[in-house]
Amino acid sequence: MEATGGISEMPVVTEGPGADASEALTTLHRVFGYDAFRGEQEAIVEHVVAGGDALVLMPTGGGKSLCYQIPALVRPGTGVVVSPLIALMQDQVDALRALGVRAGFVNSTQDFDERRTVEAEFLAGELDLLYLAPERLRLDSTLDLLARGKISVFAIDEAHCVAQWGHDFRPDYLSLSLLGERWPDVPRIALTATATRATHQEITQRLGLPAARHFVASFDRPNIQYRIVPKADPRKQLLAFLREEHPGDAGIVYCLSRNSVERTAEFLSANGVEAVPYHAGLDAGTRAAHQSRFLREDGLVVVATIAFGMGIDKPDVRFVAHLDLPKSIEGYYQETGRAGRDGLPSTAWMAYGLNDVVQQRKLIQSGEGDEAFRRRAASHLDAMLALCETAGCRRGRLLAYFGQEPGAAACGNCDTCLTPPETWDGTVAAQKVLSTVVRLQRERGQKFGALQIVDILLGKRTAKVIQFDHDQLSVFGIGQDLAEGEWRGAIRQLLAQGLLAVEGEYGTLVLTEESGTVLRGEREVPLRKEPKKPAVSRSGSGSGRGGGKAKAAVTELPEELQPAFEALRAWRTGQAKEQGVPPYIIFNDATLRAIVSRMPGSLRDLAGISGVGEKKLATYGEEVLAVLASLDGSAPAAAEPPAPGEAPEDDWPGPEDEPEPDDWI
Ligand code: ADP
Ligand code: ZN
Repeated sequence: MEATGGISEMPVVTEGPGADASEALTTLHRVFGYDAFRGEQEAIVEHVVAGGDALVLMPTGGGKSLCYQIPALVRPGTGVVVSPLIALMQDQVDALRALGVRAGFVNSTQDFDERRTVEAEFLAGELDLLYLAPERLRLDSTLDLLARGKISVFAIDEAHCVAQWGHDFRPDYLSLSLLGERWPDVPRIALTATATRATHQEITQRLGLPAARHFVASFDRPNIQYRIVPKADPRKQLLAFLREEHPGDAGIVYCLSRNSVERTAEFLSANGVEAVPYHAGLDAGTRAAHQSRFLREDGLVVVATIAFGMGIDKPDVRFVAHLDLPKSIEGYYQETGRAGRDGLPSTAWMAYGLNDVVQQRKLIQSGEGDEAFRRRAASHLDAMLALCETAGCRRGRLLAYFGQEPGAAACGNCDTCLTPPETWDGTVAAQKVLSTVVRLQRERGQKFGALQIVDILLGKRTAKVIQFDHDQLSVFGIGQDLAEGEWRGAIRQLLAQGLLAVEGEYGTLVLTEESGTVLRGEREVPLRKEPKKPAVSRSGSGSGRGGGKAKAAVTELPEELQPAFEALRAWRTGQAKEQGVPPYIIFNDATLRAIVSRMPGSLRDLAGISGVGEKKLATYGEEVLAVLASLDGSAPAAAEPPAPGEAPEDDWPGPEDEPEPDDWI
């Protein structure tokens, strides 16, 4: 891997004291080509440029990078960025170099000479930004090197890695507190997308940032549409969702286990959706190759466990799908946040069912950790379940979870806002379920899982029902007024509401302390109706053009502009291949859209477009104008998706479906 090759180096900053807010804005225009700071960015940049420490909490895709990149450019010296993701450093550095920023990295992927070159550049004051893995900072040689150069700012990215409770914990982060001790005059900025108060406190304490100003950005991601659908045949549902709404789009599908990752990737590929697996069981080479394809190709789907995604800043991920329930809202929000960083309409889609609740409750009970750990895990799961079962706005729920006020009572861009769910009085149904559990236990001394309870309620004489004489129970067949899916939905909701519990390795159903109040008729049990046809709408930016068959990235563009967009995209692919970089490093989709919407006729017009900075204008300006000038107005035909294929087995997890351990790193 080459650290410093290729792109010509052109200093873009005027350094020196007197750096101020207007210089920050000039740098934003000139280097990045953006019109204005977003939200808190301006205040953060101003604070850090002036030498203050900061803790920045911003959702994934919120724009954290600029918060340290601009101070690094404006302040004299090199900005040192600590990041745990060495596999992504090359792309990060390439992206900066494409903007004319003098960036480099030092990590274990380099050979001696490459490292030496970067170190020499740093010492000569020729780097604006230097990326380092945290483990390097434990080495005396690294600290000595840093001491011999001039540092403008320390940025600690993915700062939640210092939190010992989180699943991204990196022991090397603990040593980062020494930065403040050794360089008391260099401002430090810690950034994370993890938003809980406990994590904030841990970060400030462990990184030694007591005086840091806290900046908490809005966690809303208005361009992401949140949808949670009842799980029936998840892979088929996923395929339908992709075909209807995201044909040809890049996206991530999360599954709990390695096994289901593999099977889902195979299923999608067999059905004409190009997909690759990613999990910690694959060898490092395969993982790296799949990650690199995802970053470099248009429209690839990665099916992954939670091992995938941190630090992946591909801006045009159009959907994130969950086939299994995440363990917490933090995890869900971080994963879904990887969609739509470019601000264009994107979808966070999840299929969620009874088995998810059973599975997750079982995992908590049988998992490692003490009682306190279990209680914590259970409360995280409860919050996640409440999000799944809410009849109110999902976005509102999410923001409330992060302690923020939603902008409006209904966001208009989540499934419950688009198709408000109906509720029904499920008191009698709940009593039937609970009585069946009670009868089995009291009369037979038995405990069974949800499937058997549903069969008994429906009066099905299955082999297992006959084997245990369950057709002799007085409750046998008392539930024929509801369909199987409705019973599963009712049980799922009872579990979510804590009116029923799961026990043991087989996930048998048992009563809770609260169950008695239902059985005695002391309380009502409102239940959400299971939607027959899940809400489907692709509104995002509000144009509501429905799920067309065109490439989704251009769905929202007026039809007459699509040929130009496609032409630019094809040009971009060629450029990216030639340089061996991801296409978004050339220009991202949002910038291409802005270009075709404005149809600039001159370099001057092009320069005014968001995402076209000085360096990119100089490098690509003429070519972009030439592509636009060569258009003859004929639209390329969109490919039809292939015929539907076979669906796989049901979604009940088998014994080989061990979830990916959290400590994969
Ligand atoms: P984060 O690190 O918080 O997940 P990034 O720093 O990767 O987010 O930013 C997400 C996207 O938003 C990037 O494509 C970035 O270029 C873009 N972006 C950030 N700030 C601005 C801005 N002020 N104007 C326009 N685009 C921005
Ligand atoms: Zn909503």
